[in-house]
Order: sequence, then C-alpha cells, then structure tokens
Amino acid sequence: MRRVVILGAGFGGLELATMLSEELGDDIDIALIDKNDAFVFGYSKLDVLFGRTTPDAVRLPYRDIAKPGVRFLQETITSIDPEARRVTTDAGVHDADVLIVALGADYDLDATPGIAEAGNEFYSVAGAERLAGLLPVFSRGRAIVGVCGAPFKCPPAPSEAALLLHDYLSVRGVRDACEISLVMPFGTPVPPSPDTSEALLAAFAERGIEFVSGRRVASLDAGRSVAVLDDGSEMPFDLFLGVPRHQAPGVVLASGMSEDGYVPVSSKTLETRFPGVYAVGDVATIGVPKAGVFAEGAARVVADSLVATLRGGEQPAAYGGQGSCYIEFGADRVGRVDIDFLSGPKPTGTFREPSAALVAEKHDFGSSRSARWFGR
Ligand SMILES: Cc1cc2nc3c(=O)[nH]c(=O)nc-3n(C[C@H](O)[C@H](O)[C@H](O)COP(=O)(O)OP(=O)(O)OC[C@H]3O[C@@H](n4cnc5c(N)ncnc54)[C@H](O)[C@@H]3O)c2cc1C
Repeated sequence: MRRVVILGAGFGGLELATMLSEELGDDIDIALIDKNDAFVFGYSKLDVLFGRTTPDAVRLPYRDIAKPGVRFLQETITSIDPEARRVTTDAGVHDADVLIVALGADYDLDATPGIAEAGNEFYSVAGAERLAGLLPVFSRGRAIVGVCGAPFKCPPAPSEAALLLHDYLSVRGVRDACEISLVMPFGTPVPPSPDTSEALLAAFAERGIEFVSGRRVASLDAGRSVAVLDDGSEMPFDLFLGVPRHQAPGVVLASGMSEDGYVPVSSKTLETRFPGVYAVGDVATIGVPKAGVFAEGAARVVADSLVATLRGGEQPAAYGGQGSCYIEFGADRVGRVDIDFLSGPKPTGTFREPSAALVAEKHDFGSSRSARWFGR
C-alpha cells in the first residue's frame, strides 16, 4: 500500500491527503488529482452571489499545497477502472494500490429544460458570478430561489440564499417592490432538525418570504418567464436563482461503480465493492447529506484505516455521520445545526440560535481549513 491515488481535491480529497501526509509523510506516495487549479469553499458562492467578495478572492490555489508525500496533479480524469485500480487522465495513466474517489457531485443542467436559457444557477462559481451581475438590476417583481431536484449539496443553502436576498434588496431600498419565493422538494427546510426548520420558517414569515414546500422546479419556460413545478403548477418570475439537479461526474457514471447515480459504499468504512477502492463525500451514497463537513469526516475514517493497515494498528471506529453546518440567517447572524445521521436509529439535529459569535466561528471554520490544507 504505497501508491495512494486520490481523485478530486475538494473537502474529502484535501482532508485525506493532509491526514495521510501528517501520519505517513514520505513513507507513502500520494497523487492528488484535480482538473481545477484552485479550491473554493461551497459557501463562498453565496458571498460571490451577493457581491460580498470576488471569485478571485475566494480561490485557494492548489499550487500552495506543500506536504510530504503529496504530489498535486492538475489533470482531468477521463476513465476509472476500479477492478484494476487504474485511472486515465488527459496526461497519462495512474496505477494505485489504494484508490479513493472523491470527485463530488456535478450539475445536470439538461435535466431541467429551460434552465440554461431562462434561469441561472448559483451553485457554481461561474453561475454565482453571472447572477451577481443581474442582481443590481432586479428592482421589482418576483425572485424565485428554486431547487430542481434532491439530493442537492448543503440542504440549508437555498434557505440561506432567500434570507440573504431579502437583506440585499432591503439595503437597496427595493424590497417592498419585490417578492421572494423559495421552492424546495422537502416538507421543511432542514428535515432532520425540526428546531432549525422552525427557526428558518419563522425567519421567512418575518421577512415575507414564501416557502413552497414539497415541490421541485421541473422546467422553466423562457418565453413566458414561468417556472413549472413538478405538479404542473406554474410560478411566474422576474429573476430565477436555481439549484440545478445533481449527479455524479460522468467519468464516475461510466466507470461501472455507480448505482442509482452515485457510488454505493459501506457506511462504516467507505469501502466500495471493489477491493482497495473507497469513495468519500458527495460522490458516495451513504445516507448523509451532501456537505463538506460530511465529506471531511468520511475522509478521516479512510485515512485512519489506511494508517492502521500500514502500521498494523487497530482499525478506527465506524464512520458516525456527524457534522455541523453553519446557516446564514441574514442581518449579520449565523446559526448552526449539529447533525448526527448514522449513530442513532434516526437522524437528529440540534439547533444553535443565530448569533454574531457564530459568524466568527464560521469564519474560523474556513480559515482553519485554509491553514491546514494550504498552509495559509
Ligand atoms: C452554495 C453552497 C453552499 C455550501 N455551503 C456549505 C457549508 O456551509 N458547509 C458545508 O459543509 N458544505 C457546504 N456546501 C457543500 C460542499 O461544498 C460540498 O458538499 C463539498 O464540497 C463536497 O466535498 P467533496 O470532496 O465530496 O467534493 P468537492 O468538494 O465537490 O470536490 C470534488 C473535486 O473533484 C474534481 N473533479 C470532478 N470531476 C473531475 C474530473 N473528471 N477530473 C478531475 N477532477 C475532477 C472537482 O474539480 C472538485 O474539485 C455548499 C455548497 C454550495 C453549492
């Protein structure tokens, strides 16, 4: 187990490479492969969307990674052979003793007819940047924050977008001339945590944000500027902020590893059915939400297990599916939900009231990862 190949340098891949380097250093050869030249925190897209920062300012360049044993390779993965643990990229072939797939979830814009012509998504940096250019000219009419399908990354993010949009329009003095509607496929904003959902619903009610629950946006009619929901009902809009349908990256779907769109793994060890091949984070089906904190937690279990295998120690405890998510409530307040998905008979979530202290805690969450992963 000397050649470890990590596919994807997102939350999962970065944490895994960091832990293995800390524990094993030059005793191991870790190839960390990503097609991009920089990492961006998911939540930074909200900051870009509302003009709080620029895309350049939130990029963490991979060239800053300097860790014993780790080689970062900017390459696009074109095929994965899980039986042979062989990966082909636009630059060559990589054979692995241990292969970890951490390629995240991609967006499938074609799955929602009209979204490319009539709407905009804020789940990619490019999409958030495009919308940031449209927001200043939206001064009246209806804005829809619309989710086009589940599962989607960071379940609280659409609620955050609606609350931050309220603030943005209020500051510009045009809130009274605008309506905000949030369309979500769930019955409540954060189903595993009734307290969090209640707090979000109260925040929507206070701000006059319409919450359309249990529905997803099935298509957009560009000619009429109408969103068609999955029950056939129609909602006219002047501005659409979309959460596109998600799917595993095409290279994963073509590899034979996926079932029902994502890669099934043991929820305890993150092993796939292929020996020596693991999947962590959004690309895996494991019963936890698609969020960075869960990708990171899963990566830690895999790293501990590989270190134990190499050193002959005890295997780590099973992955527990716990994580804390910060939620922007607007008005310079951030709340937090601590979720436990796997250790009890059903998922639970504990809510921490929005506060200025949690704004600072969220900031520390980001800066501690920047320091740990990129030496900043
Ligand atoms: C608006 C928004 C807000 C969010 N807020 C939060 C939050 O507050 N807290 C939180 O925990 N999570 C949040 N998330 C979710 C979080 O960003 C993701 O769940 C997390 O990044 C998943 O980590 P991952 O390692 O599985 O995948 P990713 O971080 O997506 O990494 C996958 C990597 O694989 C690479 N890749 C894909 N295909 C290829 C290929 N063919 N070749 C080479 N490289 C490839 C990609 O470039 C990418 O770098 C948010 C997401 C969004 C969109």
